[in-house]
Amino acid sequence: MEKKTGELLSLHTTFRIGGPAKSFISVSDIDELRQALSDAHRPFIIGQGSNILADDGGYDGDVIKLTGSFTRVRAEGDEITAGSGALLSSAAVAAAEASLTGLEFSYGIPGTVGGAVCMNAGAFGGEMKDVVLKVFIYDRETGRELELSRDDMRFGYRESLVKSRTPDEARYIVTGAVMSLERGVRSEIEEKMAEIQDRRRSRQPLQYPSAGSVFKRPEGYFAGKLIEEAGMKGASVGGARVSDMHAGFIINTGEATSRDVKTLIAEVQDRVYGNSGVRLEREIMYL
Ligand SMILES: Cc1cc2nc3c(=O)[nH]c(=O)nc-3n(C[C@H](O)[C@H](O)[C@H](O)COP(=O)(O)OP(=O)(O)OC[C@H]3O[C@@H](n4cnc5c(N)ncnc54)[C@H](O)[C@@H]3O)c2cc1C
Repeated sequence: MEKKTGELLSLHTTFRIGGPAKSFISVSDIDELRQALSDAHRPFIIGQGSNILADDGGYDGDVIKLTGSFTRVRAEGDEITAGSGALLSSAAVAAAEASLTGLEFSYGIPGTVGGAVCMNAGAFGGEMKDVVLKVFIYDRETGRELELSRDDMRFGYRESLVKSRTPDEARYIVTGAVMSLERGVRSEIEEKMAEIQDRRRSRQPLQYPSAGSVFKRPEGYFAGKLIEEAGMKGASVGGARVSDMHAGFIINTGEATSRDVKTLIAEVQDRVYGNSGVRLEREIMYL
């Protein structure tokens, strides 16, 4: 176990924003996780920090990252078993290498398996709930390890049983997941992944720090289009800017603060509501 005091969260979020965490603890196995949680203050589990806007003022609690044995990925039969700290893209690559199809959609989502399960991450017509067979959980309240089925996980659009509104109410920690896939042809799987990567590169401002799509897709609309129609494409507050390439993304042009991003998000929501009557709901989480 490694414990750092005052570690900057900007080093652990894809937005590159966030002040110091009271403590930042890396745990490498279940015993260390249990130990870290036993005397933790407001523990918050962080994956790749790719869906998080961390406050400039930092976090007055313990941020816990699952590393070491939690990053293992294994292919067996038609299944991929991955630790929650493994990169989702590593799981997709392992699946391709084992000629297993079904996880291609996830290639390029810059999160961990744990974060993706928690968020029911999805792209290009696929979602985690389509492939997840079971999820290994550590229940903070009882100290028990559980094995949950796909149904138990209550997956919804960017929602699951594990997702919590605030760090203080987080009860379940994903320690790993089994994904059930189908036999395919390796070259075809890799071709599909390359195609998906090209589509991301041509549509998303990947050269700038961001947390991906800021808003959930409102039913019957596209957030990016609504934002564009409200005249907010390219709008900026301080170092935060609505991407010219994809209006659903807010990018950090260099010196953005969490306050800049929050102010811009509120402005976008107001302008879109005024223009179209649609209230955009935030997908990214404030820490
Ligand atoms: C360029 C870019 C493109 C993106 N594209 C997509 C996309 O196409 N589709 C999509 O769905 N998302 C996308 N995202 C958003 C993000 O990558 C996903 O939401 C991802 O699943 C978050 O994973 P993470 O490990 O970074 O989680 P974090 O951002 O670190 O955490 C997100 C939430 O999950 C919780 N969490 C993380 N790990 C665990 C765990 N082990 N147990 C319990 N809770 C946990 C955290 O506490 C937090 O509440 C994109 C982001 C970026 C920057």
